[in-house]
Amino acid sequence: MAAYAFATVGNILALTGDVDMFQTEQTFSGGVFHHSIPNGRAGADIIVTPVELLARTQGDGSKLFSLKLSECQLELGGASGRMVFCRNTDSSLTIFCEERGFPAALSSASFGALDDRFRELRSLQRSQNSRQWFWVSISLLLIAVVCAGLYFGTLAAAQVAVRSLPISVDEKIGQMASVSMAPGIPLAEQHSATVLVRDIVEHLRPYSAIPDMDFRVVVIQDEQVNAFALPGGRIYVYTGLIRHAENAEQVAGVLAHEMAHATLRHGLQKVSQSLGIVVAMQFMVGDVGGLIAFGSQVAQESVLTSYSRAAETEADLEGARMLHTAGIDPAAMGEFFEIMKHEHEELPAILSWISTHPQHDDRISEIRRFRDSLPAAQYRPLQLSLDDAKRDIGQQ
Ligand SMILES: [Zn+2]
Repeated sequence: MAAYAFATVGNILALTGDVDMFQTEQTFSGGVFHHSIPNGRAGADIIVTPVELLARTQGDGSKLFSLKLSECQLELGGASGRMVFCRNTDSSLTIFCEERGFPAALSSASFGALDDRFRELRSLQRSQNSRQWFWVSISLLLIAVVCAGLYFGTLAAAQVAVRSLPISVDEKIGQMASVSMAPGIPLAEQHSATVLVRDIVEHLRPYSAIPDMDFRVVVIQDEQVNAFALPGGRIYVYTGLIRHAENAEQVAGVLAHEMAHATLRHGLQKVSQSLGIVVAMQFMVGDVGGLIAFGSQVAQESVLTSYSRAAETEADLEGARMLHTAGIDPAAMGEFFEIMKHEHEELPAILSWISTHPQHDDRISEIRRFRDSLPAAQYRPLQLSLDDAKRDIGQQ
């Protein structure tokens, strides 16, 4: 060791010679902690010799530190857990290195004296890691449970809140949908077909579940056999439907069914079932405008597709109840289904109302069963004729 031209002061060596003479030793890149270094820490080249670790700090004012292997107290750490710290007995000097071959170099230089400590530290690290992973997994699971709770909780709360909104919201949804749909060319309000449909709706109104609903009638000049109601009570009837009906009672059957969709608020029900988390959250913080815009889209889609089977049956039965209390034989509703059923084969493309209301056989028998369960009543024919309306439609 005499060839090393260093003056030793405790563990610190003042560099006076050429340290290149250590080139044959194993050199690593690492660092040093010592109070004599500005900021207490510096990067260093580390040389592992069979006796000691030498660390030469980088940059100006390079210093050389020495730490005897026999004094080395090992620790593992750093972000990766692979950083090897070697401290002297009073912890005043620490040399550290993260390079992959460093532990093996220490092991071989110390002739295995440090191996037990390395094993002990690694096993400690493994158990800490598995404990950490356990808690990370538990935390992630808890976060997932809380997020799922918030997600489904918000949706469920919004669904309940949407269903308890006032009827004015249905009307706004229907109004917005009617503007963006533009379903076709409406007949004039004085047209005999419009008057007929309006008279039937007014006849049924007192017997509906919400008699003061803003029922508005629009008759569209179109050969489709179609009718639909928007939320809030706007009812659209296509001239094709009037043309295919045999009497005013059958038209009343279709209208009672559509009015029932509005009074049973099936549109709002579908809006609440279709809610996404974004609209639900906006709604829960008071943004009803977003809900109305979303509801308008849902209402338009519902016109093109249909409501659920349960909603359709509910509208049939509520419609049949309305007809019965209005003194109209609910069988008229079933009769219209029968006409559609027989003509369906020949005119599938234009029979929209029936094609969006599937399984009409089941519905006819369900309406019959319901009619039979009602108390006996004296049904009266409507004092309304389809003749004028049919004639005037033809002249369009
Ligand atoms: Zn329907």
